[in-house]
Amino acid sequence: MLDHDTIPAHGGTLVDLTVPDDDVDKLTEEAEHFPKLRVGRRELSDLELLAVGALSPLTGFQPEEEYRSVLGSAQLTNGLPWSIPVTLSLDDDELKRLGRTEAVTLLPQTGSHPLALLEVEGVYKRDRETEAIAVFGTTDLEHPGVRALHDSGDWVLAGPLRVLRLPKHEAFRQYRLTPQQTRQAFRERDWRRVVGFQTRNPVHRAHEYIQKCALEIVDGLLLHPLMGATKSDDVPAEVRMRCYEVLFENYYPKDRAMVGVFPAAMRYAGPKEAIWHAICRKNYGCTHFIVGRDHAGVGNYYGTYDAQRIFEDFDPDQLGIVPLFFEHSFFCLRCEGMASDKTCPHDDESRVVLSGTKVREMLRNGEKPPPEFSRPEVAEILIEAMREGSA
Ligand SMILES: [Zn+2]
Repeated sequence: MLDHDTIPAHGGTLVDLTVPDDDVDKLTEEAEHFPKLRVGRRELSDLELLAVGALSPLTGFQPEEEYRSVLGSAQLTNGLPWSIPVTLSLDDDELKRLGRTEAVTLLPQTGSHPLALLEVEGVYKRDRETEAIAVFGTTDLEHPGVRALHDSGDWVLAGPLRVLRLPKHEAFRQYRLTPQQTRQAFRERDWRRVVGFQTRNPVHRAHEYIQKCALEIVDGLLLHPLMGATKSDDVPAEVRMRCYEVLFENYYPKDRAMVGVFPAAMRYAGPKEAIWHAICRKNYGCTHFIVGRDHAGVGNYYGTYDAQRIFEDFDPDQLGIVPLFFEHSFFCLRCEGMASDKTCPHDDESRVVLSGTKVREMLRNGEKPPPEFSRPEVAEILIEAMREGSA
């Protein structure tokens, strides 16, 4: 097997919070004696990311000093770039119920089998307004991220984690690769330079083109769809996964591209989330990260290029992953190929451009968008899903 070192994790060491197999029984028994806390869906995603080292160098839910540092200056207290705080919420009742305790046992949403043991480092009040402005740039409750923040508890429980088992997932198991596993996959393929692509949408020709442009200058592509909580009007994960599979089957070289699940929940924090997504992908072993226009955006809260420009505020060496910026792309009938404003001199009439609304309308009517816009295999899956009412 060819072997080489993959890129260092953020902060230098890839974190692994999972307890060694031999200690799981003993610690599970210990966990019985501490107060229990059920973890909500979004925070469960963070717990999973923390456990596998996707949020290296974090080793638990962040304490107040670090929370303040992230909100104030987008860095950890040691100066490393970090743009979105990772916190565990408590409401008043939960806080009272937990009382003074040295540790808390974290439970999944259903069932009583403990997931992790949190050693209590502190409890602090969430500063909603400062957090909303720092992360989302707005306090508007129409913003889905601000809404989720508003609905979370007033208190934050902080401390390092020992993880007994990862949250259970029935779907996409073969794609659920931890950072250690993606790094191993890169080594096995001898990919030294790997570009990560974040998505929460089906991939149409425009994004396929961007991914392949990036792939032209590196060794491999990690298509890394976000599969945690998203907005209810985003296309469901299982439908998206079928789209990725059919694309990979028909249009991607098997030795140059792979799919992995990114178990994060979507925050819709635009620029701040672009930085966070890049750092996470560095932990998965990517050396490059694609940032399109409106990365992680929603509504009209962010400027088109904000998520690209924010990278200027960070020291590239400290960030340690190379962002690749792309324009919207399209098929141009006169260029006879995929292009963007950067590469095509023709006007709109020559370009096959459809709005998201228009595409959804076509698909709902059982109509395939032109093959220049969407691969027919992908369109078929989306039409079928619309028909079944799942997209
Ligand atoms: Zn053109």
